[in-house]
Amino acid sequence: MVEGIEKPNLKTLISEERLQTRIAELAREIDRDYADAERLICIGVLKGSVFFLVDLLKKVQTPVAVDFFQTSSYGAGTEPGEVRIRKDIDMSIRGQHVLLIEDIVDTGYTLRTILDLLRFRGARSVKLCALLDKEARREVEVPIDYSGFSIEDRFVVGYGLDYDQLYRNLPFIGYLEP
Ligand code: 5GP
Repeated sequence: MVEGIEKPNLKTLISEERLQTRIAELAREIDRDYADAERLICIGVLKGSVFFLVDLLKKVQTPVAVDFFQTSSYGAGTEPGEVRIRKDIDMSIRGQHVLLIEDIVDTGYTLRTILDLLRFRGARSVKLCALLDKEARREVEVPIDYSGFSIEDRFVVGYGLDYDQLYRNLPFIGYLEP
């Protein structure tokens, strides 16, 4: 437990040990699938995916380059599921193998938008690695090639995921009891 962040209503959903064990398995799967690739461009979605991306890529042996998108979704007054790119990637991905790394897939709108964009820009292949899958909430189909954990429909925090920008540095996935 991170000092000073203990809250009586903060419960553990996935422990640090379970997270790290599963992440090591995902890294092995990725290495196996990209064994012949000279280079894999790994793209994280800021800010939530950062903790997962770092731990995952430290375990991956395939040569990787790293880049980031930042997105925001708009609520009132805009179309449902409208996603804006606030920070674009710096690298050209044309002809490259791309692995998109995300913390959680919820409705799927964010990933759908980014995956379409990466394909439009001419990536040689695009796959998705997501730590958490909240399948019950899905509104658009997003195939997850490497999925860490399926979770039920509840708001989770920790390991990159925030509540009002806090809790990202928890080493485990938790939830806040109302
Ligand atoms: P989607 O476009 O799939 O609905 O939303 C994905 C984004 O919503 C995630 O990258 C994350 O920022 C946010 N999100 C979805 N579910 C949760 C959750 O349970 N907890 C937190 N902290 N963020 C979530």
